[in-house]
Amino acid sequence: MTKPITTFGPDFPFAYDDWLAHPAGLGTVPKAAQGAEVAVIGGGLSGVIAAYELMKMGLKPVVYEQGRLGGRLRSQPFQGADDTIAELGGMRFPISATAFFHYADLVGLQTRPFPNPLDDASPSTVIDLESESFYIETPDDQPPLLREIAAAWAEALEQGAEFSALQTAIRARDIPKSKEIWDRLVAAWDERTFYDFVASAPAFQKLSFRHREVFGQVGFGTGGWDSDFPNSMLEILRVVATGLDEDQKLIVGGAEQLVRRLWAHELGGLSLKSLHGGAPRPGVTRLVRASADKIAVTDRWGDTRLYGAVLSTCQSWLLTTSIFCGEDLFSQKLWMALDRTRYMQSSKTFVMVDRPFWRERDAQTNRYLMSTTLSDRLTRGTYLFDNGPDQPGVICLSYSWMSDAMKVLPLSPDQRVNLMLGALKNIYPDVDITRHIVGDPITVSWENDPGFLGAFKGALPGHYRYNRRMYCHFMQDVMPPAERGMFLAGDDISWTPGWAEGAVHTALNAVWGIMHHFGGGTAPENPGPGDLFDRIAPVALPD
Ligand SMILES: Cc1cc2nc3c(=O)[nH]c(=O)nc-3n(C[C@H](O)[C@H](O)[C@H](O)COP(=O)(O)OP(=O)(O)OC[C@H]3O[C@@H](n4cnc5c(N)ncnc54)[C@H](O)[C@@H]3O)c2cc1C
Repeated sequence: MTKPITTFGPDFPFAYDDWLAHPAGLGTVPKAAQGAEVAVIGGGLSGVIAAYELMKMGLKPVVYEQGRLGGRLRSQPFQGADDTIAELGGMRFPISATAFFHYADLVGLQTRPFPNPLDDASPSTVIDLESESFYIETPDDQPPLLREIAAAWAEALEQGAEFSALQTAIRARDIPKSKEIWDRLVAAWDERTFYDFVASAPAFQKLSFRHREVFGQVGFGTGGWDSDFPNSMLEILRVVATGLDEDQKLIVGGAEQLVRRLWAHELGGLSLKSLHGGAPRPGVTRLVRASADKIAVTDRWGDTRLYGAVLSTCQSWLLTTSIFCGEDLFSQKLWMALDRTRYMQSSKTFVMVDRPFWRERDAQTNRYLMSTTLSDRLTRGTYLFDNGPDQPGVICLSYSWMSDAMKVLPLSPDQRVNLMLGALKNIYPDVDITRHIVGDPITVSWENDPGFLGAFKGALPGHYRYNRRMYCHFMQDVMPPAERGMFLAGDDISWTPGWAEGAVHTALNAVWGIMHHFGGGTAPENPGPGDLFDRIAPVALPD
């Protein structure tokens, strides 16, 4: 039987899922270190997973959170309707994200297929480009243009990225083979953009500009990808090679529950919640080295505590904008990487509706009244969430990135909703969405939130070295002693920004690093990422 695609590498082919599942556990710290406090900045997914695993090891995590537990897994209930939520951050989770699902299963979350465009979970899809709409219910409805684009993309991946060989190696968890291919691709594509990949591919060159344009609008599964065109091609290759854009699930009741349930999850009568007396400590404002082996963490009310190890999981820009950080905490090379990190902007606008009226068919055309919609208009992606025939539904009127997200940045929720409804009216002239809206709209612009400053990393050409410095920072034996004890994790430290799985991987790296820092280690039968690091380290490009 063919093995499934998982997020095994390709940069650092470590089996996080096997490490997590092994009965020997992630490791232990010596008796003398038991109960030692570790500061964890950020109560998002990576912070809470790291804190949970450190607690399991017998250390005492102290989580600081400036806003709301969950971070970018933010499931906001509509006013007066606690069970109806808008997923403002992460909302679709690929089954290849096996470390993420380890925790989702641990806390008993239910999933359903995510209603992506052209997916079985969407009753129908409309692709609306340059005012021409394609209505698609079954694969046979796909117009030739879309088929040609899908075929060209598959061919381009073969031509430019040894794609099937890479995926075969990832499936088989064949480390030498996957590294051999990936290391070649790193050298070839780090400094070239996604757009360059598409435009220079023979498979696309034989087609028209229009094909490239439509490819940018429709993407290859989850929606428009032209906002990623300026990014390093490596970003895109990681997503497609590890199946992140396929077979995605939504979390019933909202993804934020993962963080909240883990926070309350009991281990031998102890939970993070009980350890903290109910709530995390306040946001951090100052981080400085106090002595050779202690880092001082000050919160917004001026309370300062000393820790032998600190894990920062907030977006790295916050280390220079909202937390006063001693410059000697990191090397200048690492500061360069943290500061050069580039974030994508992203905006979403949701309304609650009385019922999933899009399940009804138009009497004349027999088409569904409304569909999952991809468009070159302001809305870009419109998604329909059906909570059952007699339940209120949710429409994500618009999910957009970069320039499209910036267009609405200064606008109020009502202005955004009106703009989006206006755009959709052009696509569905006979559907009166306003008639179905109940409650207040919900909208977000992550770049406008001082606790985030952006949605997620989108590495630019030439950023591989920066990514590598951040990702490998948990291996601290090679660092000067004065820089040890400060750890990093989270979406922007990972190789797969914008995907929660990367936040989990980096949290687990930090757990290994902190365990090692306190003199602990793994069981020989269950080596961790640091134990195997020298064998599988991400390829180093010359500085
Ligand atoms: C719009 C959007 C769509 C996404 N879609 C998907 C998707 O479909 N699938 C998927 O898998 N992933 C998706 N992601 C990515 C996923 O949400 C992230 O990878 C994950 O939630 C990041 O977790 P984290 O712990 O690294 O960071 P965060 O969630 O950002 O956690 C960091 C925490 O630090 C806190 N903080 C900041 N400053 C301080 C301070 N000074 N003191 C204390 N705390 C502080 C913040 O409030 C935050 O809670 C999406 C993200 C966004 C924004």
